[in-house]
Amino acid sequence: MEPKHGLSTRCVHDGELDDARGAAHTPIYNTTTFRFATTASLLEVVDGRRRGALYTRYGQNPTIESLEAKLASLEDAEAALAFCSGMAAEAALFLAHGRRGVVVLGDAYGGTLDLVGAQLPELGIDTHLLLGHELDRLAELLRAGTGLLFFETPTNPALEIFDIRRLAALAHAHGALVAVDNTFATPVNQQPLALGADVVCHSATKYLGGHSDVTAGALMGPRRLIEAIQPWRKSLGQMLAPETAGLLLRSLRTLVVRVRRQNESAAALAAALREHPRVRRVFYPGLDDCAGHDLARRQMSGFGGMLTLELDADFAGTAAVVDRLRVFTIAPSLGGPESLVTLPVATSHHGMPAAERARRGITDSMLRLSIGLEDAEDLLADLRQALEERKTS
Ligand code: PLP
Repeated sequence: MEPKHGLSTRCVHDGELDDARGAAHTPIYNTTTFRFATTASLLEVVDGRRRGALYTRYGQNPTIESLEAKLASLEDAEAALAFCSGMAAEAALFLAHGRRGVVVLGDAYGGTLDLVGAQLPELGIDTHLLLGHELDRLAELLRAGTGLLFFETPTNPALEIFDIRRLAALAHAHGALVAVDNTFATPVNQQPLALGADVVCHSATKYLGGHSDVTAGALMGPRRLIEAIQPWRKSLGQMLAPETAGLLLRSLRTLVVRVRRQNESAAALAAALREHPRVRRVFYPGLDDCAGHDLARRQMSGFGGMLTLELDADFAGTAAVVDRLRVFTIAPSLGGPESLVTLPVATSHHGMPAAERARRGITDSMLRLSIGLEDAEDLLADLRQALEERKTS
């Protein structure tokens, strides 16, 4: 057996198509359908007697299959499915495996909270949104037969860390599945399947795509669970275009170098900003005074490129700091080459009632940074000039 390669090698080589014409990497099969010499040979593929390309929306397209093989390898999974967005991936996951009820633990992405909190109940699916301190209720819900536990770690925007191993053991003891949204951490920093999760979910729009030019999603896990999701993707028409799959393949080849650089810059900024007089608190799991630091050290191999600051300022003061930034771009999303900044109260948590925001610890003084690939010194200088006290006359 070949030795298992490291993650960087797998990012470059795994899943690449051995193209008959000798392309150095997977070409883009920009076609919606595939031709057959005879009806008999078409039937071989339709009936599953021979693996072949048939119709792109079904996923039977060499570029998409190549992408899925690479995605599976990155999370050390048996199988993966690619989707046209992270939300498409989540929706298919919940429809396939969430019908016995879904619990979302912690502060998940707003779209996830809408889907699980408002839309799945319209289909008669029992759903529950719990916060990190409500673990007693989680045990109760699992005991009562809820079938799927879903959470992000680190969370958005407070970068709370959940213990994947412990939560997976708890869910499995009650016959429930565990899905972890690994978008923030990436497979470079955290491998949820190795810690006991059943399925990993990604908004590939973020670090996997890495260039702010791809909208895509992915699910990875054991073949039996992933295969049960595939008919939902097919019938809901959630396939991504072959060009997008080609772009994502391109991006994944450089995933490790990008994410490690973002880890390093975020850690340097977190350490420097902790000392700043206008910064009340830095949320970054790599800081030893962060609540989840010890757990993060155990279950992550890097602390990620996201950090959140709480300023000594009200909403207007915090927004003024953001508006003075020159290298950072004000935009939602994360994981791209350009550093982004948002106020959670103006973006991810905007529609939430103030009392619920307070319960979740989301304040008017928080700003969330997605650290990109610029020089860390330039990012720090930009933040320092924006944080400078301005005299108003
Ligand atoms: N999961 C997380 C953690 C996210 O931040 C997002 C989007 O911001 C999603 C899922 C949804 O991904 P997409 O926008 O690709 O549908």
